[in-house]
Amino acid sequence: MIRVGMGYDVHPFADGGERPLVLGGVTIDGRGLAGHSDADAVCHAVTDAILGASASGDIGRHFPDTDPEWQDADSIELLRRAAIVVRNAGYAIVNVDVTVIAQRPKLSPHVEAMQRRLAHALGIVPGQISVKGKTNEGVDSMGAGESIAAHAVALLASVLSQ
Ligand SMILES: [Zn+2]
Repeated sequence: MIRVGMGYDVHPFADGGERPLVLGGVTIDGRGLAGHSDADAVCHAVTDAILGASASGDIGRHFPDTDPEWQDADSIELLRRAAIVVRNAGYAIVNVDVTVIAQRPKLSPHVEAMQRRLAHALGIVPGQISVKGKTNEGVDSMGAGESIAAHAVALLASVLSQ
């Protein structure tokens, strides 16, 4: 049995420059995003995609933002934990595809590093994960450079005999 899941996340840029920008577990030079954890929209979208594909709830259920344990959490660690939830539910991750929408900064120099970090957290090889950056052509808050959004889809295969 194979199952597909989708995830979406968006974070606005933070006021002030103290927070680092973290996407796909990679710290990138530039203004950071606002959020309860490290605001890594890529990790959050992938987390929801794999949890969704296995019908295991969502990131808010597993890592509630009301829980001080997840304050300034390292989202790549949340993703690693979500991958364990998915494996324990009897699924292997076949592939993950991510589109990151950011007017700035330019993401292409960081795509390979994101693939490596995400693959490591998911327990798969970088060839099983795709990260694509695009601008929003100047439209809406992403295009105005006020936020960064990520869309992810994940395909899982059941490793239990039916
Ligand atoms: Zn988020």
